[in-house]
Amino acid sequence: MNGIDQLCPNCGLCCDSTLFADVELRAGDDAKRLKTLGLTLFSKTKTKLAFTQPCACFDGKLCRIYADRPKRCGLFECGLLKRVETGELTTMAALKKISEAKQRAGNVRELLRTLGQREERMALTHRYSEVMCAPIEMADEVGAERRGELMLAVSDLMQRLERDFLR
Ligand code: SF4
Ligand code: SF4
Repeated sequence: MNGIDQLCPNCGLCCDSTLFADVELRAGDDAKRLKTLGLTLFSKTKTKLAFTQPCACFDGKLCRIYADRPKRCGLFECGLLKRVETGELTTMAALKKISEAKQRAGNVRELLRTLGQREERMALTHRYSEVMCAPIEMADEVGAERRGELMLAVSDLMQRLERDFLR
């Protein structure tokens, strides 16, 4: 069994918007076909198409279009995967890191819901920005406290993602 088979079905952080808010298509991707397969495409710049995350083709565990997935998905290997494949990290240690990151991402999502942001189809970072940009009611002490908790939870999550998955 390779690293992908061991880690990815227990993770999904690169498909559920925890790591990325969107993914750009690359030369050679068939945008029309990917749209037919279910991806939600948009023009990121004048010349670049991207698809939104959480990915519409992620079933919560696996990619529904694995054999036809965009090139960038096929090429992406997170830091954990690379370290398991080189033997720098054991599979067990990597699974523990995945579990910890998912638990923290879950905390962030729970806090967002508590603060009224329940749009689960929106990328995590966009949901966070929306909550933090909303005006603060000075009299709402609980809301202000929750926002503080959210800031800390996001900072903790980002540090872990940066350290364990993005390098
Ligand atoms: S973040 Fe890494 S371990 Fe997790 S699903 Fe993506 S490639 Fe696999
Ligand atoms: S197409 Fe598949 S591999 Fe790519 S982000 Fe979506 S679910 Fe993940």
